Amino acid sequence: MSELIGAKPKVGYYVTGQNVNNLKTSAFNTILVADVYSRPIIVKGNSSVYEAILTLFTEDVGTIFVVSEDNLLEGAVSRKDLIKAAMGGKNNNELPVSIIMTRMPNIILATPDESVLTAAQKLLRHQVDALPVVKLIEVDDQPRFQVIGRFTKTNITHLFVQLAEKYHKGGLL
Ligand code: ADP
Repeated sequence: MSELIGAKPKVGYYVTGQNVNNLKTSAFNTILVADVYSRPIIVKGNSSVYEAILTLFTEDVGTIFVVSEDNLLEGAVSRKDLIKAAMGGKNNNELPVSIIMTRMPNIILATPDESVLTAAQKLLRHQVDALPVVKLIEVDDQPRFQVIGRFTKTNITHLFVQLAEKYHKGGLL
């Protein structure tokens, strides 16, 4: 609760103007993607659609990120991308995921140092379930992205529950 009361030398104590509701919402601003993200589930672009579907089940995720041989982000495939491909009647053992993925530069990214609120707003604005958490590097003077994590709606749900339980314990709910 210390954020409610500020202290300045020679001025003394003063009320910061933060109310309890501000405090709760500001947690979403100050908590970073780095604090909540999950490990990324990735496949190479030449992996088959069949392999990607298996990965979806074995890793229990909804979105898989596609990377190049040197592990740089190339695209993303979601559940619906894979269902659509599976319904398409082509040989899924031979069809590479790179054909069906949403590709760079159309991938919406998250960085570890951005706030959970900003990343959550991106999920809503772009109507996607997951963002790759990336580290920017330069390859041949071009910006490229290493995938270091996965930011999903599940991360936000976990955080929401943790915060709610914390504030509840503190008698703030
Ligand atoms: P689903 O298709 O299972 O509902 P999404 O809503 O996340 O999952 O995906 C919708 C579409 O957006 C898919 O075609 C997918 O390839 C694409 N997509 C998924 N994640 C991203 C992202 N981070 N940036 C851009 N496009 C994405």
